[in-house]
Amino acid sequence: MNENLYLNKTLIKSSKITLIKIRKDLYMSKLNKKQILNSIDYCNKEGIFFNLQTIYDSVPSGKCSGCGNCCMESVGTNLVEFLNIYNYLLERPKLKTYAFKKILDYYFNEYISKHSCPFKNSKNRCIIYDVRPLNCRIYGQWKKTDYEKNLQNILKENQYFLKFLKSEYNIILPKEVSNFKIDYCEKFIPEKSYLSKSQRLEFADRIFVLDTLILNSKTINIDYADRGIVEFFVESVTDISLANKIKLNRTEIILLNQNK
Ligand code: SF4
Ligand code: SF4
Repeated sequence: MNENLYLNKTLIKSSKITLIKIRKDLYMSKLNKKQILNSIDYCNKEGIFFNLQTIYDSVPSGKCSGCGNCCMESVGTNLVEFLNIYNYLLERPKLKTYAFKKILDYYFNEYISKHSCPFKNSKNRCIIYDVRPLNCRIYGQWKKTDYEKNLQNILKENQYFLKFLKSEYNIILPKEVSNFKIDYCEKFIPEKSYLSKSQRLEFADRIFVLDTLILNSKTINIDYADRGIVEFFVESVTDISLANKIKLNRTEIILLNQNK
């Protein structure tokens, strides 16, 4: 396999999701728990979590029905957002255990059957609502044309990934997984107007600055690759490249048996 191949790990994604591109040669790491805790400590002391909350608070509000339809996928997340969520769960051990179980279920089964975001509970509620990532907060704020354009780009990239899975692993994903997409939300009504692309990027840039502060602090040693919230958590307990290998092998075996 080409070492520089980018894998688009999560399949059909809505605009809610940042594409997760994994460079196989760079992305062979496990996050060190002590470093995670040190980084959380650093973020608390330096007011980085406070600044993150300020950014979140500046996202315009709107009327959301709370239907949970947009919570059908894991989302792309920045380092500071992952640390913020991890910190939130540290203070809630029962929730942390529940979340980890769901995260691992999601991760290892995401190519086998369709699952909603592991942070959505059975009552359609987000269990980390107070610390949910930017992508969740701005989901309803996309203009329809931007959303559809982005979705088309993602669908195109996913075709490449589907071909890769077939040629490298002989994995043909079930249609419920490969054809899944989250339709544009017509129900959300923004308080003023939808966000333009530059406004959305401005929020992302402000969060990226916080990531840079953490990386410069050297409290955590991490390759700066795009990751989803699920990948961050999986990487906090195991080597992500090993987990990815197990997931693909497992998927191949299960799907082969299902199709017999
Ligand atoms: S943003 Fe839209 S899809 Fe998501 S919960 Fe609100 S109304 Fe439902
Ligand atoms: S983190 Fe929460 S708001 Fe975001 S997709 Fe998951 S359940 Fe929905």
